[in-house]
Formats: sequence, structure tokens, C-alpha cells
Amino acid sequence: MKSYRKELWFNVPTRRAFINITPQVEECLRESGIREGLVLVNAMHITASVFINDDEPGLHQDYEEWLEWLAPHEPLSRYRHNRTGEDNGDAHLKRQIMGREVVIAVTNGQLDFGPWEQIFYGEFDGRRRKRVLVKIIGE
Ligand code: ZN
Repeated sequence: MKSYRKELWFNVPTRRAFINITPQVEECLRESGIREGLVLVNAMHITASVFINDDEPGLHQDYEEWLEWLAPHEPLSRYRHNRTGEDNGDAHLKRQIMGREVVIAVTNGQLDFGPWEQIFYGEFDGRRRKRVLVKIIGE
């Protein structure tokens, strides 16, 4: 069995953003040389997500509004977590609902997606360097 590991780095200039990272994950898969197996992609920070859905701007705006409705960034005093001196109580909640990781099957050297599936990095507390782990196992 082969094994491959890579960290993808992001420094999002805004507090929140959704970034399509499918091309980077496909590049990792090419580098790995693995034809049959599994890809794990996970955020390495507890205020960011990795998830799979459609690359459609209206949907991404819907996510943004829905997440702000569920867990508004302000007032900061709304969150006990912010009593630690942080201001990212909302980001931890947003990350929880959007998920930590995805697993994708690798078939014939390709990501074996369903229709319209793409991989996204969801940033909820940006403006600093953060990482996503890509781990691929197979043969
Ligand atoms: Zn925090």
C-alpha cells in the first residue's frame, strides 16, 4: 500500500470565505501516483471546515447567510468562548456544522465524485495562515 501526505496552506484575507480546493486535491492525487484508494481531506484548525457541495455562488451566499443566522459573529458577548479574550466563538460553531473533513474514493486515478461534487475549504476566522491536510492511501 502506498501512502501520501501533504499540507495545503491558506491565508484568507477576510474573516470568512469558501474556496474550491478540488484542483489542489487532484494535483495531490496525481503526485501520489495512487490509482485505487481513498483521499482524506481535513481542516487542521477548529475554526475552518472542509466539505463537499456545489460550486454555485448563490449556494455559497445562502451558506453565509444561514451560518450568520445560526451563529452571528456579533455581539461578541453572545459567546462564552469569547470570555477567553478570543472573538471567534461563532467560528467554532460554524465549523462544527460545516464539518471537519471529507473522504473521497479514488477510482482509476480520479476522484470518484457524484454529480456536481466539489471540495471546499470553509474559512470562518481568517486573516492568518491555516492548513488543510491531504492524506491518500491505496495502490
Ligand atoms: Zn476560539
